[in-house]
Amino acid sequence: MIIILKKDADKRQVENLKRWLVERHITPHVSEGENTTLIGCVGDVAKIDMGLVQALSAVESVQRIQEPYKAANRKFHPEDSVIDCSGAKIGGGEFQVIAGPCSVESSEQMIGIAKAVKAAGATLLRGGAFKPRTSPYAFQGLGKKGLEILLEAKRETGLPIVTELMAIEHLPLFNDVDVIQIGARNMQNFDLLKEVGAQTKKPILLKRGMSATLQELLMSAEYIMASGNPNVMLCERGIRTFETATRNTIDLTVIPVLKRLSHLPVVIDPSHATGYAHLVEPLAMGATAMGADALIIEVHNNPPCALCDGVQSQTPEMFAETMQKIRAIRPHAWKRG
Ligand code: PEP
Ligand code: MN
Repeated sequence: MIIILKKDADKRQVENLKRWLVERHITPHVSEGENTTLIGCVGDVAKIDMGLVQALSAVESVQRIQEPYKAANRKFHPEDSVIDCSGAKIGGGEFQVIAGPCSVESSEQMIGIAKAVKAAGATLLRGGAFKPRTSPYAFQGLGKKGLEILLEAKRETGLPIVTELMAIEHLPLFNDVDVIQIGARNMQNFDLLKEVGAQTKKPILLKRGMSATLQELLMSAEYIMASGNPNVMLCERGIRTFETATRNTIDLTVIPVLKRLSHLPVVIDPSHATGYAHLVEPLAMGATAMGADALIIEVHNNPPCALCDGVQSQTPEMFAETMQKIRAIRPHAWKRG
């Protein structure tokens, strides 16, 4: 249920209303926009008499909402959320490109790629230290050592870093990480979601599970937000379908759909969505045109020898070309009206 307050509602009336809601075991979330102030009501609102609320002098109108997500819901928070990733802002018209290898492999590899993507215009650096691999025999990432290398690349380039957290016990190692990625395979690891909500306020890049609906993605964001961390970004990386021509299947309509449902920024990953380096540029261009708030692109200095996801990794040269095209498209990108 959402309560829309009158423009001239006085503070005392609003406080009384909040207390009245709390007495009925409803948690009120006040959202003050430029033109409207809303109270989002979380709890069992079925027992609330809407007529009683509507009759209060401070209240303009009352709406029941159907969606089970509240904190992530655009209706509760009409303005776009802007997520500050150590100075690189994402959302609300601010656009960034995150780039780097799938996995951190060595200091030379990481620093070389970091410098190349920065020169091409990337504003955040990615690299996996803890890797969720389908096979237990595949490269599992360098772990703690990988994080140290990423931090070295951050010191060298000044780029904020994005890296995946797989287990909450590793969180103390992530103190200097700027953005925590929750991978597709962990999108519904609810205990992990609750803990990254409760234990940190760092921005979370939440990737869509490969068989998750958009509502399920939003519910996972809700877990993080309801636990105390509002800094969530939604990342579409394609889902599994019957199509085999690409690694996953992506429907770019998710950008306007998610933006209508939620105020959270939408990030597109054209690398995992397609699985092939030659498809990354067209998809990155399309996603930019459709209003993505950020892109996350895998770049490797020597893709044939990459320890993970070489087939879908752009070379630094390809990435530089893609960046030029993205820059040209960006001023014409679709915006929510
Ligand atoms: C990755 O970013 O390298 C990754 C493993 O992504 P996803 O969780 O989307 O598969
Ligand atoms: Mn990858």
